[in-house]
Amino acid sequence: MKIRTKIALQFTAIIALILATFSASFYYIAQQNRKDEFFARLRDRALTDANLLIKVGPINTKLLKLIDQETLSKLYAEKVLMFNADNKVLYASYSADSLEIYYFYNPELLKRVRERTYVETTRDSLDVVGVMYTDEEKGEFVVMASAQDYMGKIQLEKLRESLVYSFLFGVLITIVLGFIFAGQSLKPISAMNKEISTITAYNLRKPLNEGNRQDEIAQLAINFNQMLERLEESFDLQRSFVSNASHELRTPLAGLKSEIQVSLEEERTPDEYRKVLRSVLNDTQRLIQLTNGLLQLAQSEKKERSISFQEVRLDELIFETQEELLSLHNDYQINIDFDDIPDLEQDITVLGNGPLLKTVFSNLIDNACKYSSEKRAEVRIGFNDKSCFVRVIDKGIGIPDDEKQRIFEPLYRAKNATAFRGYGIGLSVCRRIVDMHRGSIRLQSELQKGSTFEVVLPHV
Ligand code: ADP
Repeated sequence: MKIRTKIALQFTAIIALILATFSASFYYIAQQNRKDEFFARLRDRALTDANLLIKVGPINTKLLKLIDQETLSKLYAEKVLMFNADNKVLYASYSADSLEIYYFYNPELLKRVRERTYVETTRDSLDVVGVMYTDEEKGEFVVMASAQDYMGKIQLEKLRESLVYSFLFGVLITIVLGFIFAGQSLKPISAMNKEISTITAYNLRKPLNEGNRQDEIAQLAINFNQMLERLEESFDLQRSFVSNASHELRTPLAGLKSEIQVSLEEERTPDEYRKVLRSVLNDTQRLIQLTNGLLQLAQSEKKERSISFQEVRLDELIFETQEELLSLHNDYQINIDFDDIPDLEQDITVLGNGPLLKTVFSNLIDNACKYSSEKRAEVRIGFNDKSCFVRVIDKGIGIPDDEKQRIFEPLYRAKNATAFRGYGIGLSVCRRIVDMHRGSIRLQSELQKGSTFEVVLPHV
């Protein structure tokens, strides 16, 4: 169901409920008023007749009957009966047989009137009032008056009809207004929908109209525009990555091709062939390194769910990394130290993927040695009650301020690093892996003085 229809229907349901409650209470009050008023009239009539018969009397009952029947205030189907203490009928305003009298005014009802002095009741369609009338000299009498509120009931019926029609009319108007109102409120969303449908991967820089920048819909547009900006950035990164990667691959491949071409141009001595083959081997090794790096990057982009996490002790992992790096580069010096000796194993244990975390520390320590003339890296392990820290410190070439953020982009290399081997892949892999572990990576660096990379990971 469309939101517009939903809002209109909900709005109508609320108004219908209010209208129904209002109409029902209005009808109930009108009905109660009618009853009260009619019973009061019946009571008056009963007391007037009793006064005439007992106080004023002896009065001719025929005359009273005549008065009863001819008065202007006569009620529809009005009947007045007066009983003495023995339940004998003293006066009846109409000629009724004893059965009919008994049907309406049985001893039980008369007893109730004597007990309570005043009773209101309804029998069939008649409203009945019983009044106890006491005269000091003549004793106690019960006067029963009954009549049908014909006019009152007709008026009530009319009122009910009008209320039902007004209710239906009200609901109809609400539905129409609800649709108009909902359409009006959702207009900006429809407009936004239209704008969004024109956005493609090539025109992300076509922001949505942010309206008054205040209401919820404007906020949505602002957030959407910010998301577009982030998407655009990541598309740009992707594009530059693809062009950088192909450039990086093309250079050694072109080198290989020209070396082979030149050596094939004329007959060479075995020594010359050996020289060419060695150079080809070097280039191939560089290519393998680069593709390995790209593979690492692709692996780090894998979905987190497919990577298994276990408890990993960081100090053990770093010692293993040190060993592996030293076996590859015997000129490296890697010093490992603790800020504090951990009392508990948990203090330096994280939930993570060992091989991936090893890639992080291996890249950072390798860089520290690679970019410093001493080929030396200090590794410090620390912890607090929530996290573990690993700081990799070097006294190397440092990183220019304006490139500190960019070096984490895939294939980006700082201007002062071109003389060193590398492809600019390691740090982007590190950041991705650390993110995956809900950690962070920070950098402090000063040109020609050195750099400190700090990895913070939540411990178990
Ligand atoms: P690579 O070292 O292969 O170029 P990285 O992604 O590991 O790739 O590093 C990206 C860039 O960051 C490097 O090219 C270099 O400019 C800079 N960098 C990284 N580590 C250091 C360091 N310890 N000292 C100075 N520069 C560094």
